[in-house]
Amino acid sequence: MIFQKEIETMPRNQIEEIQLERLKWVVRYCYENVPFYHKKLTDAGVFDGSRIKTLSDIAYIPFTTKDDFRDNYPFGLTAVPMSEIVRIHASSGTTGKPTTGVYTREDLAIWSDCVARVAAAGGVTPNDIIQISFGYGLFTGALGLHYGLEKLGATVIPASSGNTEKQLMMLRDWGVTGLVATPSYALYLSEAVKEAGYPMSDYSLKLGILGSEPCTPAMRQQIEENFCIRVSDNYGMTELGGPGVSGDCKARDGMHFAEDHFLPEIINTDTGERLSENEVGELVITTLTRRGMPVLRYRTKDITKITYEPCACGRTHARMSKTMGRTDDMLIIKGVNVFPTQIENILINIEDVAPHYMLYITRKNYRDNLEIKVELVNADLLENFQMLEELQRHIEGKMQSILGLRTKVTLVAPKTIERFQGKAKRIVDMRNA
Ligand code: ADP
Ligand code: ZN
Repeated sequence: MIFQKEIETMPRNQIEEIQLERLKWVVRYCYENVPFYHKKLTDAGVFDGSRIKTLSDIAYIPFTTKDDFRDNYPFGLTAVPMSEIVRIHASSGTTGKPTTGVYTREDLAIWSDCVARVAAAGGVTPNDIIQISFGYGLFTGALGLHYGLEKLGATVIPASSGNTEKQLMMLRDWGVTGLVATPSYALYLSEAVKEAGYPMSDYSLKLGILGSEPCTPAMRQQIEENFCIRVSDNYGMTELGGPGVSGDCKARDGMHFAEDHFLPEIINTDTGERLSENEVGELVITTLTRRGMPVLRYRTKDITKITYEPCACGRTHARMSKTMGRTDDMLIIKGVNVFPTQIENILINIEDVAPHYMLYITRKNYRDNLEIKVELVNADLLENFQMLEELQRHIEGKMQSILGLRTKVTLVAPKTIERFQGKAKRIVDMRNA
């Protein structure tokens, strides 16, 4: 099923016409309504956008980065008075200054359309009963899928995450046909289903609509086998409003963008130069219709490539390949975004430990675990078991409250952690080993 067939299958030249018209609009809109963009566009000589004559003229527009969001926290990038804002979301796991996203009523309606497209492309129909096992809250994933699926006409169960028994009970008893979750949580639940011992014929499950973190083909296959379902992937981020930016169709040969709402580009991360179709680089996206928080040329830091070839499914909107990594060091652990610098900041503020640490990420029983090994300043503490344990728990508590993530802290003797010359390699990610 194609949710907005006319738009999703329109000829490329028409998509591009719409994009050009909307690009001109959004540049003028940003110039007139957001002081941050007014200055940036003025400095770059783009002004109100009259310089934009073709889509490739987008190259004149400066990039926007995550730091710009931080510097303008919380609402500096908002283009309308707060009275027109009806919803606020924020990115997961960021300290002090999370990335905020604000939505007008119209933004919410468009967001739901985009999510409904992704869900339909992934195989969801109005006959489906979908359990949303994303954590509800500031996270864009849960409410994003929630309203998108309702718009599509599916039956939504706002299960949220956690409480495995209850998740399985709903899956079994309520005739759930589709699961929305992160790939790692889906995998975990699929194992739990196997362990619970009921035959798969007790379940009606047939679809997995997964997203918000990378899902390797091996992981996807495992989920599909355990659950006897078909999995589709979808992509998005808080800065661009959440899920609905792109998603898999039946062909599963790249995720279709909602190109009438998002204008994607691929750039060379080092030079900023625009790359061509099928060349691998950093994904950059301009929102074409957002009113609350429009974004010009956002550098996602996700590495991928784009194709404009028409797809077997009939959709004509461009597709991105599965992400091949990130240009920064952001880790996604249990679906929570963690920057090593956040951990460093926490450790630096704790007296008894030195800023020498290592991060070990493992996956056991399909759950991510983060172990932080950190050096003590004073070796004597190793003799005092009680104090050692207290300190360890104190640090774990800090990590939990600031990162929103349970970690295991191990305190080690001074000067036992490797010193690095040049770039430090403090992260050992063993999840795909
Ligand atoms: P989310 O709320 O989806 O976690 P965040 O803004 O917290 O969004 O994080 C966005 C980042 O998550 C993206 O830049 C990307 O690195 C990652 N991400 C989201 N969806 C996917 C996906 N389907 N595949 C790979 N990575 C993804
Ligand atoms: Zn397709």
